[in-house]
Amino acid sequence: MKNSTLAQRIAQFPLLEKLIALEETTWFNPRATTLAEGLPFVGLTRDDVAAAHARLRRFAPFLAKAFPETAASHGIIESEVVAIPAMQQRLAKETGIAVDGTLLLKKDSHLPISGSIKARGGIYEVLAHAEKLALAAGLLTLTDDYSRLLEPECQRFFSQHSIAVGSTGNLGLSIGIISARLGFKVTVHMSADAREWKKARLRSHGVKVVEYEQDYGVAVEQGRRAAADDPNCFFIDDENSRTLFLGYAVAGERLKAQFAAQGRIVDAAHPLFVYLPCGVGGGPGGVAFGLKLAFGDHVHCFFAEPTHSPCMLLGIYTGLHDNIAVQDLGIDNVTAADGLAVGRASGFVGRAMERLLDGCYTLSDESMYAMLGWLAQEEAICLEPSALAGMAGPLRIAASGRYDLRNATHLVWATGGGMVPDDEMAHYLAKAVG
Ligand SMILES: *Cc1c(COP(=O)(O)O)cnc(C)c1O
Repeated sequence: MKNSTLAQRIAQFPLLEKLIALEETTWFNPRATTLAEGLPFVGLTRDDVAAAHARLRRFAPFLAKAFPETAASHGIIESEVVAIPAMQQRLAKETGIAVDGTLLLKKDSHLPISGSIKARGGIYEVLAHAEKLALAAGLLTLTDDYSRLLEPECQRFFSQHSIAVGSTGNLGLSIGIISARLGFKVTVHMSADAREWKKARLRSHGVKVVEYEQDYGVAVEQGRRAAADDPNCFFIDDENSRTLFLGYAVAGERLKAQFAAQGRIVDAAHPLFVYLPCGVGGGPGGVAFGLKLAFGDHVHCFFAEPTHSPCMLLGIYTGLHDNIAVQDLGIDNVTAADGLAVGRASGFVGRAMERLLDGCYTLSDESMYAMLGWLAQEEAICLEPSALAGMAGPLRIAASGRYDLRNATHLVWATGGGMVPDDEMAHYLAKAVG
């Protein structure tokens, strides 16, 4: 961006100065409105989410058999919600900000198959594609037991088709593992920030991994281009996919059922605040959409981003969405939070959700590492750095004084880390105390 244009932008949008200075920033969304008013802008409906639920139920027998770790939940991929009172006290002690209400953690970090939130959207999109192909080929009907897809005839059929995706790591891991299990040929285009162990894990599943020295945007673009040359190749478009989004949205009703089972109330007097780490936006956007459908106006959703990659805050705040990237402001998009290292937000998610979000905030890598250490010490829960981005949320909300939090529930969405190898985790923990 030319200096003159940048100066004009800053005059129009004063918060940009803080973003450029890499200061931790909290932004409350002045356009936030009710579900009734905001829903038409999403372009997706309750029925779309219900169809995603139904599809995942059809695939449950397949998943239970293909991934024995999902057998206990009968092939439903879902994570626990746990209270973290010791962490709540530690946060108060370390920051001097006491947060009213109850602090909970949603452990998508420990989802089966791939150990991150991508086990929702990524796996769902591959299943939707496999179902479409198998139905069209007459290999499957909607009422079949889908574990049939493990039979050699089906596996041979899928081996004639390929799948491609661009990723910073976790999406590639989810899509690679599920695609390979169905028999697809699968290629994952990995950005420079992707961890070595994720690439090695994928290769061990027979997935082709192509590495780039550039960031996520380039990996996606290269993947898209490679797939375009092959009519039998399906490209999973993390930047625009409605299917991925719906896979994430299923989390809303599931959480509502978990809360009901735990006797937790969400209503006007007991508001729910949810803090979601945001990369390109599909994961947090889809989950927030599902939560809004499940809890209506009693849930307040916030997106959390690294100070070096504030693409969604930038896109929604300026209204420019995917027409602006953090690099246009001279921000480098370099962060230890690899799952969030995205410079340009999804064009679809920001526009869909800009009326249904209460706000966005940024935090430094140092803050994520510090909280990673506190959570490990207080609750013996180990996460990857990205997954701590939500943990600053309750502090920001409390400090703002904008909400009555006395009966509030705060839900920090822990998005990844369950499969990080021990030596890698030791490295994270060393950074946390160092
Ligand atoms: C991908 C990812 C996110 C964010 O999801 P997006 O769809 O990219 O916004 C958050 N945390 C982790 C650990 C992730 O892998």
